[in-house]
Amino acid sequence: MMDITDHSSFQLGQAIRFILEEDDFLVVSHVQPDGDAISSTIAIGLILQNLNKTFVMVNEDKTPIKFDYLSGFEHIQHAGEMNSAPRKYQNVIAVDCADFSRVGIVENWFGDNPTILNIDHHPTNDQYGTIPLIQAEAAATAEILFHLVEALELQWTKPLADCIYTGLLTDTGGFRYSNTSPEVMKIASRMLEFGVEGHQLAEHLLERIAFSHIHVLKRALASLSFAENNRIGWMLVTQEDITESQANNEDLEGLVNYPRNIEGVEVGLLFKEVTTDIVKVSFRSAGKIDVASIAHRLGGGGHTRAAGCTLNMAMSEAVRFIVNEIKQEMV
Ligand code: 5GP
Ligand code: MN
Repeated sequence: MMDITDHSSFQLGQAIRFILEEDDFLVVSHVQPDGDAISSTIAIGLILQNLNKTFVMVNEDKTPIKFDYLSGFEHIQHAGEMNSAPRKYQNVIAVDCADFSRVGIVENWFGDNPTILNIDHHPTNDQYGTIPLIQAEAAATAEILFHLVEALELQWTKPLADCIYTGLLTDTGGFRYSNTSPEVMKIASRMLEFGVEGHQLAEHLLERIAFSHIHVLKRALASLSFAENNRIGWMLVTQEDITESQANNEDLEGLVNYPRNIEGVEVGLLFKEVTTDIVKVSFRSAGKIDVASIAHRLGGGGHTRAAGCTLNMAMSEAVRFIVNEIKQEMV
């Protein structure tokens, strides 16, 4: 029987063979890309560039402007703004996509029976694609890409180091969450040696507050509610809140931490009204409750302490339903 190390080095070997032997790649990450998704997309682009491969980078949604310091930021295309796929690709590298549906409409860019290298760190990953490179113990997809760069024996550059550091920084909440392993700190330390300005990235990505964020936070806090002796806490963001505060998706990031961080709260939730009958739910657990399994059961997924799903329900119904689901886990 293979142990885990053999298994991951086998997967890494398969991934490397695919990258070295093929050309003309499509690099894609998930809808509403976050720091790890963008960093991983660009890191793969830099790796392919280094190997003189041709490729395009595309995500369904726009790249948040705050990542404009990453080298190649402007080359990521946005499929959501195009009428159709300009052409089809046979060789796909998907990064940080917990399941196939997370690639969104970029699926239209895939040829028939494409070879898909699936690089991800979500334990709920459904192993879609042809070549899996899935390491649930990795804090970020960027951590897996660090090992890919090392195994390919590529030269480290500051642009590449910026990507790896950004993915680690954002997916560990600034090196604070439980996924902040000794390995994460070792890799981050090496990236600093390549010239990454850690304090500037922390200030830029984690500290600075946009006006639209503070406006939507103010409105969301007014909805803060609790159940089960304050063991469950949640906030709502309605379409009206979003319009009135001129908030975008980025402005909603981190809101779920407010209920989660309150003393005694075991599960913090954010309900975002997408339309009158679609609600996006974000789950955060203080540790006892595995929110990935709850979200997964409801068609979503994620990590044990951070997960999400989308429900076809009105806001009030979604709150009642989800709070009840979590109560069941608490008995
Ligand atoms: P967030 O609440 O910030 O949107 O997502 C938290 C975590 O759950 C992320 O790791 C994200 O990848 C995962 N996640 C959120 N929504 C979904 C979903 O609809 N499906 C899956 N599979 N994962 C999700
Ligand atoms: Mn990630």
